[in-house]
Amino acid sequence: MHPRYELVVGLEVHVQLKTRSKIFCACATDFGAPPNANTCPVCLALPGALPVLNAHAVQLAVRTALALECTVHRASVFARKNYFYPDLPKGYQISQFDQPIATGGRLLIGVRDDGTPRAIGVTRAHMEEDAGKSVHDRYVSATAIDLNRAGTPLVEIVSEPDLRSAAEAREYCQRLKEILEYIEVSDANMEEGSLRVDANVSVRPHGATTLGTKTEIKNMNSFSGVERAIAVEFERQCALLDAGERVVQQTMLWDADRHQVRPARSKEGSHDYRYFPDPDLPPLVLTAAYIEEERRALPELPAARRARLQGEYALTPYDAGVLTANRPLANYFEAVAQAHGDGKVAANWVMGEVLAYLNSAGLPITAFRVPAAELGALLGLVRDGTVSNSAAKKIFARMVQGAGTPAAIAEREGLTQVSDDASLSAWVDAAWTAHPEEVRRLVGGEKKLLGVLVGAVMKESAGRADPRRVNQLLSAKLAEASRA
Ligand SMILES: [Zn+2]
Repeated sequence: MHPRYELVVGLEVHVQLKTRSKIFCACATDFGAPPNANTCPVCLALPGALPVLNAHAVQLAVRTALALECTVHRASVFARKNYFYPDLPKGYQISQFDQPIATGGRLLIGVRDDGTPRAIGVTRAHMEEDAGKSVHDRYVSATAIDLNRAGTPLVEIVSEPDLRSAAEAREYCQRLKEILEYIEVSDANMEEGSLRVDANVSVRPHGATTLGTKTEIKNMNSFSGVERAIAVEFERQCALLDAGERVVQQTMLWDADRHQVRPARSKEGSHDYRYFPDPDLPPLVLTAAYIEEERRALPELPAARRARLQGEYALTPYDAGVLTANRPLANYFEAVAQAHGDGKVAANWVMGEVLAYLNSAGLPITAFRVPAAELGALLGLVRDGTVSNSAAKKIFARMVQGAGTPAAIAEREGLTQVSDDASLSAWVDAAWTAHPEEVRRLVGGEKKLLGVLVGAVMKESAGRADPRRVNQLLSAKLAEASRA
């Protein structure tokens, strides 16, 4: 916390909706097509072409707004946002202005650590189309235009200036991404451009209630970049005020390599977009029944799921946070927990062995080949003493390779645990005889040497002896020796 100034941040997040076709024409939205292959008279802005609204884009926008607890409006209006840029063939972008599809929502942050959520206001969510892309070729000093992306459906989510630290801004982005993934409206990937974040940043003296002059930071391409850029801009604005200067309202660009923000060359803040309703598109009118149907169809959202997992499986807030990081992972954990019956053990295995394997293999949980029921069966073998915990890890490593069911692997590879006293006593006696010096000191009172003898038995049995029973047998032998 700064001794004199408070940071005030609001975020504008552009989310690319996961539709197969563009928002106002039938062109495909798939990534990686040859330049300008996915275009038609509508998205090329040829004279006479008329836009037709994509119903699936509306559905995904409504779902997004509902998940953010917004009021979805029965009527909203598409407007033309006029500006000139080479990648905007119509000379205007179709967006929503004074009558957006949704307003007045909120997003909870800070749920994970101490359980007290903080609500960040969502001012509005509106639908719009994306622009094309300018491709600069430095070798021939030319710029080419690719309009494949022009007309891709977006939802812009605007927050209230409720965020008070760079870390909070980052968490807001992470929570938003989680929600967007849970409700399957977007890939929400900043690196691939399906999630873009701009930050409005201002500072004011502690205790002040009016807002200071803001700058807008653009060009951040990761969540850590968002956090760093805001922190750097905060320091810059504080230094200006301390020097008796003023913050100038302008657009700043984040330079991740130099770790600094610098003013954008164009004066973007001073645009007059001359918004007016698009005469080619009628107002978007939704029935109350449609909105309610979408509300009912919403899946359980991450914050609710975290709270439920904590209660249902006695998980810590941290564990619940890790396990709900994405919906397929949470589904997998719950399936293992239900197959095995002990949520805590299931959580330890999914967070330990499963995530370690996926991280090292660079795979998502959706590509994990061990079915939840089989992992549950493995945990059952540990619980009933058929295999030891360390043997279970070896079996798991074979299951990941597709070697069969845990019981079959344990049998085939001789990993079943030995717990009959006849076999165990033979190993215990052998260890006792083989370590006379340790036995002498143990009997003399050095209790910690019991562990050395347990270790010797485990080694002798190639890890198959039941360590709990070995401990009991060795303790009995020690009691006997001490009496003698
Ligand atoms: Zn098109």
